Amino acid sequence: MQEEAIQGEKIKIVSEMAASVAHEIRNPLTAVRGFIQLMAIPHLDQTKIQFYQQISLEELDRAQLIISDYLAIAKPEPEKDELINLKDEVQYVSQVLLTIANYHDVKMEVSLPDEQICIQGDRNKLRQSLINLGKNAIEAMPKNGGVLEIILTEQANKRIITMRDNGIGMTKEQISRLGTPYFSTKQKGTGLGTMVSFSLIRAMKGKIHITSEKGKGTEFEISFPAVRGDCYDSDVRNTTKSLL
Ligand code: ADP
Ligand code: MG
Repeated sequence: MQEEAIQGEKIKIVSEMAASVAHEIRNPLTAVRGFIQLMAIPHLDQTKIQFYQQISLEELDRAQLIISDYLAIAKPEPEKDELINLKDEVQYVSQVLLTIANYHDVKMEVSLPDEQICIQGDRNKLRQSLINLGKNAIEAMPKNGGVLEIILTEQANKRIITMRDNGIGMTKEQISRLGTPYFSTKQKGTGLGTMVSFSLIRAMKGKIHITSEKGKGTEFEISFPAVRGDCYDSDVRNTTKSLL
């Protein structure tokens, strides 16, 4: 019975999202359709053609962004519940984020414990959710002096990933809107990233705690229940082992 309720709730969330994403994608598509029609007008000015083309490309890029943010949650792949080596994953995510940070001229500081740490969940979903949150942190920071800190720690019964930035920060109102669809303060934002991240983290029994101060920065504390098990099972580690 409880299984059924969870399944029902999931279907409800996914179908609500599908409806709103369909709506969001229809807008750029309609715009592009209109511009293609306009471009068919005979003897059209070259500058006009270029303008229509540029807007069409921007609108298509936007549709693509919405799809990739959304796909992370709607992907019909079977839900995995595997043992995840959190240290390997945080390292992997940090590497991905470093390329984005370099692009934005932002520094990164990563701190990992000596011992192995495990949680239970879906590795790809964990990666996706941390990358979304890390990207936001990077995008919130100034080019010069921005530092993204990623810290992995453990407590008796939970494993904690802290992502801290010294960026623009958020007001109380903004924090309360985080995770709701289409809340974005960015010119080219989709407002789907945190919603996807939050759903993925919660699906893995994770909890999110946000502290933010306008003009100072933001901290996301993501904690997962501790599990006992052999962390050396992770693929990354196996690959490293076979290379040695
Ligand atoms: P997007 O990044 O496309 O705007 P998100 O759902 O990822 O959509 O984020 C929603 C909004 O939350 C952002 O536009 C921004 O205003 C705010 N936000 C998220 N993370 C941070 C952060 N680390 N610092 C400041 N604001 C943030
Ligand atoms: Mg984002």
